[in-house]
Amino acid sequence: MNPLLQHLVEITGHRDHARLEISVISALHQLGNVKEVRALEVVTIGEETFVRPKAWINDGALQSIEDPQHAEIPRLPLLAYPALAACIADKSAGREERSASGEYELWLPVWLQEKVVACLEIRNDQAFGQDTLNVIHGIFHVYRNYQSLLDYSERDALTGLFNRKTFDAEFSRPGHSPNTPGAHAATDEDSPRHWLAVVDIDHFKQVNDRFGHLYGDEVLILMANLLRASFRAQDRIFRFGGEEFVILLRSATLATARQIFNRFRQTVEHHDFPQVGRVTVSLGFVSTHEGSAVEILGHADQALYYAKEHGRNQVCHYHELISTGQLKKQTQDHAEVELF
Ligand code: GH3
Ligand code: MG
Ligand code: MG
Repeated sequence: MNPLLQHLVEITGHRDHARLEISVISALHQLGNVKEVRALEVVTIGEETFVRPKAWINDGALQSIEDPQHAEIPRLPLLAYPALAACIADKSAGREERSASGEYELWLPVWLQEKVVACLEIRNDQAFGQDTLNVIHGIFHVYRNYQSLLDYSERDALTGLFNRKTFDAEFSRPGHSPNTPGAHAATDEDSPRHWLAVVDIDHFKQVNDRFGHLYGDEVLILMANLLRASFRAQDRIFRFGGEEFVILLRSATLATARQIFNRFRQTVEHHDFPQVGRVTVSLGFVSTHEGSAVEILGHADQALYYAKEHGRNQVCHYHELISTGQLKKQTQDHAEVELF
């Protein structure tokens, strides 16, 4: 098969973003007239935009942010990427520049729903010829369309948050639970670890009953916005079903996790939802370091259930409930039956 076609087959054969980017990078790199290619991740939180390389080629070798040795590469403010900032400012589809060192640069932002979510950065010593540009744009369009399809299948249509299917794929996949490396050492209270929280809106049925389903939906959309604004870019937020959300909070001590979850609970409590007024949430959370995905989710659910039974509008930590005797440990079988 023609090598370019072979690459297109590869690009569209992946179902996760990381591998999609790697095949795009390698397709572009093998064009010959291209010296350097990077796929950048672009994340917007509130009014601020951050950028970090996701995949690139170093000395001919493919590198990815998913590799443990690159995990610490920070997200930088958009200002660190003036050419990309200019593309975003004038909503353009791309930009050719000449760097201070004389390199030719091509910036191709990926627009999804009026927002830039990624960008390809391509460099060369000579100007890009028209033929090369045509092929680059062709590959870029396949990449963009395919990314939009992937994104659509990963997200919930009402809120734009990741859906349950994505959670299952990321969290329940064997060997892919979001534990920090060296998780076995993370048993002491003060060491940072990952946390899973289940959030459920209190008395949401009453919202629907009193104001109608449309206002109920509006509350869900606003709740998703409050979630996005309350957590960091490295945390993951999912709409799990109806009015239930799951948060994966990365690298925080118990005290910080509790504080972050409580701050979110208070943000909701004080938010003025149009027409509906005040809404509260209950939250159960647990460290992701003990047990299988099913057990972890079951424990967070039990803590949530406890919060519901004891006044709602509160945050409960599973292990604290167990160690104080407020909650009894259930067998795994039971937890599994309750969940599924
Ligand atoms: P609790 O405090 O115990 O959680 O009370 P609740 O009323 O929130 O309890 P429950 O979980 O039983 O009710 C959830 C309701 O959420 C039921 C359903 O009508 C509503 N719901 C689920 N999905 C949607 C949705 O997509 N849009 C709207 N408007 N309502 C939904
Ligand atoms: Mg519910
Ligand atoms: Mg509820």
